Amino acid sequence: MSAFRTAVPGPVPHRTGVRVVAALMTACLVAACGVDAATERAATTTSEAGTDGTAGSGGGTALPGSSAPTTAGSGAVTTTDTSAPSPTATGPDTTAAAPATPLVPTPGAVGAFGPWYLGDDGSASVVIEVRSQSGAEPTAATIDRIRGVLADVSGKRVSTTGGVVPGAGRQWTAADIRAEADRTGPSQSAESGVLTLLFLRGGLAGSDSTIGVAVRSDVAAVFSDRVDDAAGLLTSSARIETAVTTHEVGHLLGLVDLVLATGREDPEHPGHSRNTGSVMYYAVESTLVGDILGGGPPVDFDRADLDDLRAIAAQSS
Ligand SMILES: [Zn+2]
Repeated sequence: MSAFRTAVPGPVPHRTGVRVVAALMTACLVAACGVDAATERAATTTSEAGTDGTAGSGGGTALPGSSAPTTAGSGAVTTTDTSAPSPTATGPDTTAAAPATPLVPTPGAVGAFGPWYLGDDGSASVVIEVRSQSGAEPTAATIDRIRGVLADVSGKRVSTTGGVVPGAGRQWTAADIRAEADRTGPSQSAESGVLTLLFLRGGLAGSDSTIGVAVRSDVAAVFSDRVDDAAGLLTSSARIETAVTTHEVGHLLGLVDLVLATGREDPEHPGHSRNTGSVMYYAVESTLVGDILGGGPPVDFDRADLDDLRAIAAQSS
C-alpha cells in the first residue's frame, strides 16, 4: 500500500496564550514527549510508566546503557538474548570468535532505543514501519527525509515498510497507540531495529492540540488532522508534518537528554532543545508554532542534536 500522500501537526490547542502554553507543556509532557518534567528523571532506574505507558505521569526515562538494572515492563529496556546459539557439540569448532549477536532489547521508555537504532552494537539495520489510517498518509517527502536522516546518523541501511491502521479517527490514548503498534508488523531482531510511525486521524485523548507523540522506545504517532489544523498562511501542512515527524523520531533516538545527560535540555520543557532553530524545540509540535516562532517550524536537527546522536551511537559501540 502506498502509505504516502502528497502532503499536509503543538501539544497545544488553539486556546488563549497562557492556558494554551500551559496546556502545551502539559500535553507535551504528559503526552510522552519522552519526558515528564514532573517526574524525576530516573537517571538509572525506571518507575512504572504512567497508565498510558508514556513517560507521562509516573514514568521516568531509563538511560539505556546505564549500569543500574531497569525494571521490565512499560518503563524500561531489558534485553533478552533470543539468538545466542546453544553450545552444542555439533558442527566444526572454529577458533575465531564469531561476532556476538546483539541482544534484542525489550521496548521501554522513550529514548531507550537510541543506542539500539544508532550504535554499531545495536541492530544491523533499521526498518521504519509506516502505518496510516485512510486520509492520514504522510507525504513521501517526509518519509524519505526520516530515512535519510536515520541513515546519516546511524551509518546503517534504513528501509521502510508500509501498512494500514484500520478504523476511523478517534481520541487515542498512548496505550491505544502502543496496542495498535503491537497489533501487527515486523518485530525487533538483531538484523532489523524496527521504528514504528503511526499516522492517525483524530487526536490524542485529553488534548485537542497534540500534533505528535512518542509513546514508547520504538513507537510514535502523528495526528494528520492536527497537522492540517496547525497549517496556515505561515506554513504548510507538509512542512509541519515533516517537522513533527522528525521531532518525534528525535525523541525515539534519545533527544534531548533522554539518553545523555548533557544538561542542554530546556528546563521548562524537558526532553527538548532550547534552540528555536532546532527541530527539537518544544513548540515544533505545537499549533502555536507560528505564533511562537513567527513562521514555519525548523525541520532540521541542529549541530548539538547531531553531536548528541553521534555520542549516543558511540555509547553502544
Ligand atoms: Zn517533543
